[in-house]
Amino acid sequence: MKSVFINKHGSINVLNYGELPEGIPKSTEVKIKVYACSLNRLDIFTRMGIKGIKLNFETPHILGGDFAGEITQIGSKVTDRKIGDRVVVNPSVICNRCENCIQGVTELCSNPGRIGLTSNGGNAEFSIIPSTNTYKIPKTISFHEAATLPTVYLTAWTMLTRKAQLKDSETVLIISGSSGVGAAAIQIAKNVIQAQVITTTSTKEKAVKAKALGADHVILHEEDIHKKINQITSNRGVNVIIDHMGQSTWENNFELLSKGGRFCICGVTSGYKGEIHLGKIFANNQSIHGTFMGRHQDLEKLIRLAEDKKIGNIIDSEFPLEETKDAHLRMEKQSFFGKIVISI
Ligand SMILES: [Zn+2]
Repeated sequence: MKSVFINKHGSINVLNYGELPEGIPKSTEVKIKVYACSLNRLDIFTRMGIKGIKLNFETPHILGGDFAGEITQIGSKVTDRKIGDRVVVNPSVICNRCENCIQGVTELCSNPGRIGLTSNGGNAEFSIIPSTNTYKIPKTISFHEAATLPTVYLTAWTMLTRKAQLKDSETVLIISGSSGVGAAAIQIAKNVIQAQVITTTSTKEKAVKAKALGADHVILHEEDIHKKINQITSNRGVNVIIDHMGQSTWENNFELLSKGGRFCICGVTSGYKGEIHLGKIFANNQSIHGTFMGRHQDLEKLIRLAEDKKIGNIIDSEFPLEETKDAHLRMEKQSFFGKIVISI
């Protein structure tokens, strides 16, 4: 099968396009004909071998966690999926045996894996994965649209609804609304929760797109963010901050949080270290929520929301599989808005 794979960590030049064997699903697995796979920062970090990621490369590694396609083969013990089912893949592999999995708190699984990181992913014509990682999608959702849902929407959903519990009377600041998770968070905060949404971005063109998605206010990086937030919130600050940038903006942004504010961090794109004023946190009843992905059943909700057009339609660009290098380059150059999708 045609695949994009790496044999070592490095620049985009370690991405190889070529043939790899297809494989046969084990008893609890399914084989999927992949049609679309969206790109995440994690794919870039995995390719580069940074942010704590080191692969052993005993065999070629296929990147890509968020993908959608059609089931072409099922393992002998799979009963709830059939050949021809249209599915999207949740890349979070769980053990289904630990205490957290049994209680349904799957994001805290003690033995987690991730498709595209700890096992081969969807940058290929076919992928073999546990059947429990597949979710059926209706015909009204395209494979490309479905492939954008898992990582960024699950993470945004977990932060806004489960962790921060943002309310419709509150204001959320979403750092970098042009990123996949930023764009997803704008839609959930506005279209589902109906909160006041403020976001930041780098250019006027991206600001127009962020407003079209539902942002009430967009602050450009060149503007004085403190002044603008004070104007918009009458000096109260924002109730919730959604951040995946980390180090570069952490200290500045934390100052923008209101009393009782919740700071959600889901990435460290700019670095992982940050100073923190513990006194201000307790005196102001603030909290910090680390978030990675989300609960398995929440992806079902997100598929329904995409069906109802409350979320989705944030595809920035599409690249054929053989041009995966260009897709990585586009993400590295920060010139995108939303999700970059690889077509297979
Ligand atoms: Zn588990």
